[in-house]
Amino acid sequence: MNVEKFVYAFNGLNTEGNKDMKDLLGGKGANLAEMSSLGLPVPPGFTITTKACLNFEKDDGVLSESLKTEIKNALNQVEKITGKKFGDSNNPLLFSVRSGARASMPGMMDTVLNLGLNDETVEGLSKLTGNERFAWDSYRRFIQMYSNVVMGFNTAILESTLEDLKEARNIKEDWEFSPADLKELVAAYKRIILEDSGKKFPTDPMEQLWESISAVFNSWKNPRARKYRELHHIPHNWGTAVNVQSMVFGNMGDSSATGVCFTRDPSTGEKRFFGEFLINAQGEDVVAGIRTPAPINNFSKNSSNQHLKSFEELMPKSYNQLCEYYNKLEKHYKDMQDIEFTVEKGTLYILQTRNGKRTSAAALKIAVDMVSEGLKTQEEALMSVKPEDLNQLLHPRLDPKSPKNLLAKGLPASPGAAGGLIVFDSEEAILKKEKGIKVLLVRRETSPEDIGGMVAAEGILTSRGGMTSHAAVVARGMGKPCVAGCTSILIDHNLKKLSVNGSAFGEGDFLTIDGATGEVFEGVIPTIEAEISQEFITFMEWADKRRKLKVRTNADNPHDCEVSLKFGAEGIGLCRTEHMFFAPERILAIREMIFANNSSERSKALKKLLPYQREDFIGIFERMNGLPVNIRLLDPPLHEFLPHSEEEINTLAHYLNLSQTQIKNRAEELFEFNPMLGHRGCRLGISFPEIYNMQVRAIMEAAVFASKNGISVQPEIMIPLVAMKEELEILRANSISEIEKVFAETNTKIDYKIGTMIEVPRAALTANEIAKAADFFSFGTNDLTQTTYGLSRDDAGKFLPHYQKLGLFATDPFVSLDQNGVGQLLEIATRLGRENNPKIHVGICGEHGGEPKSIYFCHKIGLDYVSCSPYRVPIARLAAAQASIVHG
Ligand code: PEP
Ligand code: MG
Repeated sequence: MNVEKFVYAFNGLNTEGNKDMKDLLGGKGANLAEMSSLGLPVPPGFTITTKACLNFEKDDGVLSESLKTEIKNALNQVEKITGKKFGDSNNPLLFSVRSGARASMPGMMDTVLNLGLNDETVEGLSKLTGNERFAWDSYRRFIQMYSNVVMGFNTAILESTLEDLKEARNIKEDWEFSPADLKELVAAYKRIILEDSGKKFPTDPMEQLWESISAVFNSWKNPRARKYRELHHIPHNWGTAVNVQSMVFGNMGDSSATGVCFTRDPSTGEKRFFGEFLINAQGEDVVAGIRTPAPINNFSKNSSNQHLKSFEELMPKSYNQLCEYYNKLEKHYKDMQDIEFTVEKGTLYILQTRNGKRTSAAALKIAVDMVSEGLKTQEEALMSVKPEDLNQLLHPRLDPKSPKNLLAKGLPASPGAAGGLIVFDSEEAILKKEKGIKVLLVRRETSPEDIGGMVAAEGILTSRGGMTSHAAVVARGMGKPCVAGCTSILIDHNLKKLSVNGSAFGEGDFLTIDGATGEVFEGVIPTIEAEISQEFITFMEWADKRRKLKVRTNADNPHDCEVSLKFGAEGIGLCRTEHMFFAPERILAIREMIFANNSSERSKALKKLLPYQREDFIGIFERMNGLPVNIRLLDPPLHEFLPHSEEEINTLAHYLNLSQTQIKNRAEELFEFNPMLGHRGCRLGISFPEIYNMQVRAIMEAAVFASKNGISVQPEIMIPLVAMKEELEILRANSISEIEKVFAETNTKIDYKIGTMIEVPRAALTANEIAKAADFFSFGTNDLTQTTYGLSRDDAGKFLPHYQKLGLFATDPFVSLDQNGVGQLLEIATRLGRENNPKIHVGICGEHGGEPKSIYFCHKIGLDYVSCSPYRVPIARLAAAQASIVHG
């Protein structure tokens, strides 16, 4: 019978795991096994699997007898190899017991060091090391750690006993205690623990071991670890492995040390060995920051540690060995490593290695350098950088060295950092900007009317709305930092004040936002500009060679076109025409159109708009020379263009020769209970054909004009919110007839496409019919998510975070495509579309088109392109390349 194995040895003679067994052995355990097999000096030990942790949970926190037997066998092996014995009073073996999950969860779970000490073994340790002070200090530390981690004892009282004794002895540092002092402390600790908890400190090493293993298993469920997993999307049902490893001591005097090193510089990626260490210390001391760690070599010297001797200078033999090992590890793992080491009386041990955390700039440099060093293939390099991390490289970020006072946290709607004077409305933003003042636009939410203010502001902060709210989408398009849906900020637009957690801010105060994290800070914090490096260019070229998906951009003005081209866009996938209507000279004409009583009045107003639209499109065609430009006809409900303030109503009444009451009445007529499902999209085109006809004319006149000026144009006309083939058929026929008129008038012909957005489930399900009237489909997954879930884009932010907390949504479905639900509609529509129109071209232009996981999905179902905001184009290029590497 094949009995399931729960304990894996790692030692010089017998190593049962390897680096690919992270699921079972955790990251730490898998790497300890791998390093043992590579012949590195790893203190021998064994790993108890994550599966054992899950069984332990199932068995109500009891270690099974069979597991205990397996552990004892593994322990015997360690005894044989080290020649020491667990619990022996002459030659005691001591262990560390540490957690180690699949994904790194630094500091979230528990650790016990120096396990196996008691009144007898401490004497053995003392004789063995010839260092009584060290032995008793280890014992004291062990009691403190064990009583806290395993017995749940509040150790503050032990700490104060220690401090009292220091005062009594008139000393400042722990190491100044004499062995007699430490013995006195140990006795006091045991007495206090017994008196306060009623429990005797366990002296049996086996009991200590069972209890410590149980405690580490239990620490998987502690609130801190739970919270961390929720934040990092780590499933609760993975469990942690436990690593039981023979102790080595970096605190045995001046020939001992402990340290941490990186095989390359983790902040710049430069190829230089880099690290810190402490003489006569245990691992935890380096991290704790009580003593200033010394530099490992000259490269690691900085202003705070340059007065200290380096590891290379103090322990050259160990340093040279460490160099040999780090090179070996980096070559083996083909990645930058973060290594922990200890020197015990002149002997070097390696305690841990893992792929080192790094900044995005470092990640890119390391990936590119490793290809030229022959360590990685181009594909491996492409896979080693998270697409999302490129964000950091393209936007300004907060100076990490500046002090910060965090006020609130909202949604990370558009990356980049910006600070400025708070303004509460767009006019004020524009006025201040004209005076050269940097402002932050703070609003409950934004609407298309705020475009001017958004352009003028350094960044945008809203207290409402989700990741596809107007503020979020538009800010991303502009590459402007934005924090949206920051619900803990209360805004009073009348008083021009905001309050947050008891503090109030008004015009004249300053705030800073970090759109990559959603954080809002008090005052103005300096930022660091992004620059495009040579590595970035090389890296992106490799991505382009590898990807199959084309990457277009969502842009509606020449400036955005230029930015997107710089980032490698291959066309426009969505140009939202309504964004062009809010300039002051146009809004009146739009309002005149809305207030028209009949079709001829409407046409008259539209004639005024035509030249503006034509100009806009000429500008875009010119910038996008040679590339496809997909322009969507008017989409939002008309009431979005209505005047709100008394002043606007007045101006309009005057302009149209109507009374204020007439204006207000008309506005009331246009009111809809549910405008997102109301008179919008192609429904406007069906009701008021003149609107779409004007837009089609503007597009084609612009195309003809540009083409006569030597520009290569590829216009695509896109109809929004189609639900029935009939809608598209009617609007296609109208468009063609308008286009034919333009061709006849200009005596020119140009190739063009007419297609539709797929953004309601019915369109996806009847794509076989719709495809016959469409040259292309473009998935509007913002609306398609809204209509499939029946979940409002604008209001979901109110309860979505709660759903996410409960684990109902792993990620916001407006950010990462719901592949199970909405994704099926994409698949169905693509298949039906292609079956019924083999020439059909299929893309996506919802916000998901710039989100890596959704891009993987789009690749898998065979879309032709994704389209995203200009600043996300590089992210999409890399994600598309990765998808093609992973899925072929
Ligand atoms: C969409 O719905 O996905 C889309 C791109 O259109 P909009 O966001 O403008 O509604
Ligand atoms: Mg839409």
